[in-house]
Order: sequence, then C-alpha cells, then structure tokens
Amino acid sequence: MVTITIQELTKRFSGSVVLSSVNLQIDAGELFFLLGPSGCGKTTLLRHIAGFYAPDAGKIWFDDEDVTRLPAHKRGTGMMFQSYALWPHLNVAQNVAFGLEERKRPRREIEHRVSEALEQVKLDGLGSRKIQQLSGGQQQRVALARALVIRPKCLLLDEPLSNLDAKLRLEMRTEIRHIVKQHGLTAIYVTHDRDEALSMADRMAIMDAGKLVQVDAPPDIYRNPATRMVAEFIGETNFIEGRTLRASSREGFLDVETPFGVLRGRTDGTWQPASGQPVLLSIRPEALTFGSVLDSPNRFPGHIIDTTYLGASVQYLIQVSGGPLIKVCETNPQDIRVPGEEEVRVMAAMGDVVILRK
Ligand code: ATP
Repeated sequence: MVTITIQELTKRFSGSVVLSSVNLQIDAGELFFLLGPSGCGKTTLLRHIAGFYAPDAGKIWFDDEDVTRLPAHKRGTGMMFQSYALWPHLNVAQNVAFGLEERKRPRREIEHRVSEALEQVKLDGLGSRKIQQLSGGQQQRVALARALVIRPKCLLLDEPLSNLDAKLRLEMRTEIRHIVKQHGLTAIYVTHDRDEALSMADRMAIMDAGKLVQVDAPPDIYRNPATRMVAEFIGETNFIEGRTLRASSREGFLDVETPFGVLRGRTDGTWQPASGQPVLLSIRPEALTFGSVLDSPNRFPGHIIDTTYLGASVQYLIQVSGGPLIKVCETNPQDIRVPGEEEVRVMAAMGDVVILRK
C-alpha cells in the first residue's frame, strides 16, 4: 500500500502540452479513477506513474520516495492493459509467472504464488490452458492475475474492461473492486466510462485537455459538478441559461432569472455569483418530477414531444412553454405519458438545481 503524490507534472509531446501542472494525491489503499474524454491525457498520466514516461517538469512520489526518474521495473507497480498484452506462446500459468521469473524468484515460490493468483481471479485449475483457448473474460482475468502475482505496491489499470461484453463488464467491476480492497491495494484506474467510475471509485479526477478539472468522491462529482464540462461528462443533464437576481429568502439558495421565469437553486458552496451575473443552471433529468415538490418554486409547464420507454425508466422530452427542451427521467414508471398538446408540469427541488459559472 502506497500513497502517491504528483506535483506540478507537465508533459509535452512534439511541442503540445499533454499534461499541464498536474497536482494530485492518491491515498494508500484508495481505488482512484482518472476519467475524461478521449485524448485528455489519462493514459499519459498513468504511464508516468508506471514509469514508462519521464515528465518535462514535476515530480512523482511513492510515500516519501521520489520515483520520478526510477525505471518502471523498480517501482513495484502491477499494470493491466486494455489489450491484456498476454504472450500467445505461453500457457496461462507461464503468463502469470512471467513477472516472478524476471525477478528470479525460486521455482517453488513461483508455483505457489501463481496458483494463489489464479485462485484470486477464479481461474484455478486452468494453469495449463493455452491463451487462445480462453474467452475474452478469462484472458482479462489472466492479465489481472499477472499484475497481482508480483504483490504490487500499486495496481495500474488502463481501460481493463473495454474489450468485454456488457454483462462481463458489470461482473468484473465488482470483482476488481473486491480484489483491490481485499489486498488493501492503492489502485489507479483509467476509463472514459462514467458508469464504471461512478460505481467503483473511492474518488476520481475528471480530466480535460491535460488538466484535472475536479477531484472528488463520485456522489460529490455527480451532485456538485464544478463546471459545465464535468456536469455533462458525468451524466445526462439539462442546462438552462440565466442571470442571478439576488440571494433568495431561503438561506443558501439564489434566485435566477431565466427565459421562462425565476428558478431557485444553489452553487456547490465554493463560490457565490454576483447579482446580475450570467450563470448556467444544471438539472439532472431524474431530478425532475411530474409530482409536486413541496416548498419549491421550480415549475416547468410544457408539453411532451417525445417518450422513450426503457423498462426500468421512461424518458420524456418536454417543450417548456417559452423555454428550452428539457429531458425528464422517471424510474419505475407506472403510467406512460404519450406526446401531445396537453399541458404537463414538472418540478425540481431547489437542491437539485445547480448554479454553474458561465
Ligand atoms: P484515450 O481515452 O483515447 O485513450 P487519453 O485520455 O488516455 O485518451 P492519452 O493517450 O494520454 O489520452 O493522450 C493524450 C494526448 O497525447 C493525445 O492528444 C495523444 O494523441 C497524445 N499522445 C499520447 N502519447 C503520445 C506519444 N507517445 N507521442 C505523441 N503524442 C502522444
């Protein structure tokens, strides 16, 4: 278990900045996610931690050891890639044993640790199988066993589930989290799949264009996004433009003038807009309800222009009178509403209307 500290890390590739003064601390035993759109620098940051890249500026610490210039094989990290990177000419056990043989461990110890690692990933008894005789999910488990067998100080995972089908992905999310926690490992996991990050992470960093935009636990990021980019990257949301009027009569809430009336919401608590400042409101589709929300002035009268039934939920597209189109998501739907001219009214609680900087 190791605490990883990244200080002012900067990297340029052919003159363009790919990581820009990144500062981050990942605590010992934490399952930490790097999440962001394609090309934002997630893999580059992970590869610096692994030791495959050296930064142009900045430092990386494992506890109180400066590892910035330490070669990858001396860092004690286990790495798992999207492509699995398994050797096709070696069998399962030989693939898993590879890292231990490189470290010249005695034969008996290797055998013992390989069978232990295969058991951990539920592949016991398959050691002599050829790699081509395994399913995608099993190959992925071999890759995990190979990373675990060296008893790494930290586990680095780069999109490890993206080659699996949806059902296996769900299963492996739970298993990877379980294994990481069981071993008390510090783990850093790169993905662009927000559900993977929300469901597995202790904390996560949202990256954009080589910078960390927000670092927080999943519920904090989802409920208190710091920017428009974070709000829409981490889930579906409705944006409504407006201008702040004043602090509302309710402490902690602000009134915002919008094209279709005054709405009341809150910031994430770290800033307050000035009176008359242009702002953006973010309201999640599932925060809008056809029922009435006591004590909230946030009403959206309009009519349904599209209905999508999904079993567990139903999604509506509503044309708000004099305003924008908004998405509403109702879970466990009983009566499905159909598109039409009939007026409907949805409401949102004040705490579910997040005021963002514009
Ligand atoms: P993805 O989700 O698509 O894997 P990512 O967030 O992991 O993206 P990186 O792979 O870190 O992004 O790449 C960040 C930027 O750096 C991209 O613009 C990429 O083209 C560039 N880049 C990455 N590796 C190199 C390299 N070895 N040489 C030159 N440019 C690179």
